[in-house]
Amino acid sequence: MAWFTKTRKPMAPTDKVSRVPEGLYIKCTGCTQVIYNKDLAANLSVCPRCAHHFKMTATERLATLFDGDYTTYDAGLVSTDPLEFNDTKPYKSRLKSSIAATGMNDAVVTATGLLDGIETVVAAMEYTFIGGSMGVVVGEKVTRAVERALARRSPVVIVSCSGGARMMEGALSLMQMAKTSAALARLDRARLPFISVLTDPTTGGVTASFAMLGDLNIAEPKALIGFAGPRVIEQTIKQKLPEGFQRSEFLLEHGMIDMVVDRRELKATIARALRFMGASPSAAAATATPAGPRGPATPDAGAVPESA
Ligand SMILES: [Zn+2]
Repeated sequence: MAWFTKTRKPMAPTDKVSRVPEGLYIKCTGCTQVIYNKDLAANLSVCPRCAHHFKMTATERLATLFDGDYTTYDAGLVSTDPLEFNDTKPYKSRLKSSIAATGMNDAVVTATGLLDGIETVVAAMEYTFIGGSMGVVVGEKVTRAVERALARRSPVVIVSCSGGARMMEGALSLMQMAKTSAALARLDRARLPFISVLTDPTTGGVTASFAMLGDLNIAEPKALIGFAGPRVIEQTIKQKLPEGFQRSEFLLEHGMIDMVVDRRELKATIARALRFMGASPSAAAATATPAGPRGPATPDAGAVPESA
């Protein structure tokens, strides 16, 4: 799994010493255009020239989907490293450095807030946290988010960005596929909508569980979506894969997903779909009261830091 690829590459070093402070500009991986970082942020991290979709952090994602304030949950859940796993380095120290780098305790943020006036439960995955991989904590948080939606009778939106199940938690991470799927089945029986948004990349156990279970599965343009990676498949079947294999557009053409939507149209599309599926603006939206404190710094409502 390509867990550690960065797409937001800083400008390639040149022979000449640059007078531009590092991090002000970014070179588009789609068209090599140099873009001012602030312009990119204002355009929802979509290249203004070629519409290349850069990865977003979970927090940026929530900000683009919610109308304003939102409340996060279960931020205190931390993996206990149940297998005491070691690969090139101990899983414990991987967790520690990811926590330090992202300020998050695991690879998903779950929140409630208003999405175009509709009270919605949104989960957004964080790719920079061990490749957005799903271990026990991600599975538990997604399950709790769905259960929260059941209790509130709200729709669910999950934005996936993940290398799949977290191998450092072995079979325990695979169990999360069943757990999240079972929770979504309960949501389905309660006739509440679930929209899955698949972003670049969505692979492995995440694709094989909740990411493909949406009443509507929406992908961002040119996102890599699949189960096994193309290299593994080519080696296994000993055949060259067709052009664009496992990209959103290819999957749409072959009936694996329902829509490919530009990020700049995403919120409006989700809101339209939720309304079509019967969601109505909440009373909170009508009276325009803020839903609560904003962002990941929010203390958990009712959640005691605990391990999963
Ligand atoms: Zn571009």
